[in-house]
Amino acid sequence: MQLDSLDIKNLDICLNKAINVVKNYMENISTEPVIPNIQREELNNLIYKDIPFEGIGVENAIEDVKNTIVPYCSKIGNPKFLSWIITSPSPAGTIGEILNVGLNQVPFCYKSGPAATVIEDIVIDWFKSLFGYNDKSGGILVSGGTMGTLTALSVAREVHMPGTMTKGIQNIKKPLVVYVSNISHKSVETAASVLGIGSDFVRKIPVDSNFKMNFKELEKQVEKDITLGFHPFCVVAQAGTSNEGAVDDIDTIADFCNKNNIWLHIDAAFAGGAILTERGKKLMKGIEKADSISTDPHKWFFIPVEAGCVLIKNKEHLYNTYKTTNKTFNHEDPVDYMNYGIQFTRASRAFKIWFAFRSYGLNKIEQIIDKNMDLAEEFAKKITASDKWQLVTPVQTSAVCFRYVPNSNYNDEELNKIQNKILYELELSGKAFLSPAIIKNKTVIRACFSNHRTSYEDLNLVFKYLSDISKKFN
Ligand SMILES: *Cc1c(COP(=O)(O)O)cnc(C)c1O
Repeated sequence: MQLDSLDIKNLDICLNKAINVVKNYMENISTEPVIPNIQREELNNLIYKDIPFEGIGVENAIEDVKNTIVPYCSKIGNPKFLSWIITSPSPAGTIGEILNVGLNQVPFCYKSGPAATVIEDIVIDWFKSLFGYNDKSGGILVSGGTMGTLTALSVAREVHMPGTMTKGIQNIKKPLVVYVSNISHKSVETAASVLGIGSDFVRKIPVDSNFKMNFKELEKQVEKDITLGFHPFCVVAQAGTSNEGAVDDIDTIADFCNKNNIWLHIDAAFAGGAILTERGKKLMKGIEKADSISTDPHKWFFIPVEAGCVLIKNKEHLYNTYKTTNKTFNHEDPVDYMNYGIQFTRASRAFKIWFAFRSYGLNKIEQIIDKNMDLAEEFAKKITASDKWQLVTPVQTSAVCFRYVPNSNYNDEELNKIQNKILYELELSGKAFLSPAIIKNKTVIRACFSNHRTSYEDLNLVFKYLSDISKKFN
């Protein structure tokens, strides 16, 4: 061992200590509080912050982590963490990531990570097969849904305006227009902004009573835009809107897009995992017709962050958008991932996915997702059965949006405040954590059952906590 390197003498002791921190955290994930109750300023004073010109050694640093970091982590894997669409990571996913970090592969070309490159090919093939894509399709693992949609829309732009990657959109004659439902994720607008299309050119199509894009309105808007001299080039359909879990009528939209030469991208960041189930396959009927799909393994596939996956139906389009050489696309050529996406130096996001899927088997993950959907339906039933609670969105995937409306004396503004107060008290109790959502301009409470640990008992307890707290507002 050289003394002038950064190697450490007691590597085995340090690794064991570090692993033990993770082990204890995971073992205690179900204990309270779900969200640590500490103000940011206070925490800022607790965590070491002076620029460290002299080190304290790894063992001391691990002690620091145990004392001043672990207690202030949100217990995302807690069975009563039902917020946003951050899912509980599976332990095998976490173990896979720990191994991955230790091996530190950089799969931008084969030699920088031979096994990692091949594993990425394999994982992309798995997702292609799950979503009904064929051999001609390709894809890449990215940081999440936002980057997935950005990547897909950049390919769509290049296909519709070949040469944009080199010439930019300086000479554009007909402004490009994107279509989404008016409850889609902000990442579509972000992609349009970054790609020079501009978020003003993202048309927000109203939704129907089931929170699905109103197809007639889409048709009308496209027609209108063509008349006005715009270039309708891309529709982004939702497979699970973040708040409502709503899935658009993909089949109908896909046929319309094919007929009108419009690129169809599916944002399946949230509910992509449901493709494993019969119910999900029905909901997402026609998804294989789309030109591109993004889905988040770090959401409903229970993979630890970060892991997003973008699939392009015609792999050649992805290559032609991002190639770093002049070589013409040849389907037989092995993939160097630096020619298939935005990043060069990149982590292997495939490794933890490969490891977790291989460890559990997808049948097992399917069972969990099915149960998540049952839990959501069961919870919605409880809400509907009570005369004080109102169900705001029909359950399609795993999200349930509801509202406490004890009597008709409160106006909307007061009711909005009540929902937030209930959520705040629940959070302070440390027993469970749910987030608010805005649905049709009203604040609602949202429970997202995309957690592999949540049981029926947890569900009943969460309902009881909410009922107990809400009594104050009768
Ligand atoms: C979470 C989410 C995104 C964004 O994905 P990130 O992984 O957070 O970047 C996009 N669309 C929907 C519907 C989502 O739920």
